[in-house]
Amino acid sequence: MSVEPTLRPLPFHAWGAGFQRPLIIGGPCSAEGPEQVMQVARDLAADGRTTILRAGIWKPRTRPGHFEGAGDAALDWLRAATTATGLRSMVEVATPAHVDAALQAGIDILWIGARTTPNPFSVQEIANALQGVDIPVFVKNPINPDLGLWIGALERLHGTGVRRLAAIHRGFSWFERTPYRNSPMWEFPIRLKAHFPDLEIICDPSHIAGARDLLGGVAQQALDLGLSGLMLEVHPSPEHALSDGDQQLTPQSFIALLDGLTFRQAGPTPAMEDRLQELRDLIDQLDEDIARKLGARMDIAERIGDHKRANQVAILQPERWERIMNRQLLFGQQLGLDGSFIREFMDAIHRESIRRQTDGEVPAVRSGTQPSTHSGLDR
Ligand code: PEP
Ligand code: MN
Repeated sequence: MSVEPTLRPLPFHAWGAGFQRPLIIGGPCSAEGPEQVMQVARDLAADGRTTILRAGIWKPRTRPGHFEGAGDAALDWLRAATTATGLRSMVEVATPAHVDAALQAGIDILWIGARTTPNPFSVQEIANALQGVDIPVFVKNPINPDLGLWIGALERLHGTGVRRLAAIHRGFSWFERTPYRNSPMWEFPIRLKAHFPDLEIICDPSHIAGARDLLGGVAQQALDLGLSGLMLEVHPSPEHALSDGDQQLTPQSFIALLDGLTFRQAGPTPAMEDRLQELRDLIDQLDEDIARKLGARMDIAERIGDHKRANQVAILQPERWERIMNRQLLFGQQLGLDGSFIREFMDAIHRESIRRQTDGEVPAVRSGTQPSTHSGLDR
């Protein structure tokens, strides 16, 4: 079955890849063979909602000795699959040589991976190789939570004339244990959108979730936040996949996942009131995230309280609290938050933590004082 082309000519503003919403991208983590690529393409095209076939050809693996992609040979497999189905093809490029090979093979769309975005040298080389080429480029967030690097990569591409730019939110490497492979940190795409309201941002739930059962929740959250589309990994038999087997979906389960999602109204650029509503939705989402984090923090504080009681350690530890307060003041300052606001906010958290650790017997804690005068309490 052939699918309507999705690229429409750009209304030429500074940013914008010119895709219709919601943009659905599906395909294997890695192209592994001609039949695998063709089968996924046929299944996705038959469903009709996916318009772009993704496949990794040169795979950035964390450690050597794993499957590093089929290389240039896979470009032919993709071409055969897109010719047969009408889907557009999309591959990751990390070097100028990748760019040349992809352009030669007639690949429709490029993406820059999360390990490449943080390297300004690599991004600049890719941007230079794309000078004078009119091809959409999607930029994944850097693997580390740094908005400046994400924006910088987009700017480097924009600087050499790449105009059809979009961003992909794929989550961030984070030291805390979370249920996700990469922490979603929704505030990053939200802040990127605030910087560039016309920039389309899509979500890659596969690399955020890292596990099939979390994909639906992540995808729905991205849509609720008004992101423009989804990129999901699809493999005919994920259990035999040569990369990212745990997070890939069969075409059938991918289709079922799409069926279960609620898509926001597609449409033209939101008018003023829609924009206001969109921003209010983002605020609601952030408030929910804050409440969730506070709940988790209080649970941990209670566990620490139990542990201290069991080991007969004092609940109040002034130096510990002073360190927390100073660190938060510094961190808040870097984020442009007012010191007295941080102090009041942390005081309120401190009071509640003490209440939880002492089973409701609230000891006197002075609020609004200098950090050095505070009673201490572990988080
Ligand atoms: C991928 O999309 O398969 C990939 C390698 O993603 P990321 O760059 O987000 O890790
Ligand atoms: Mn992958």
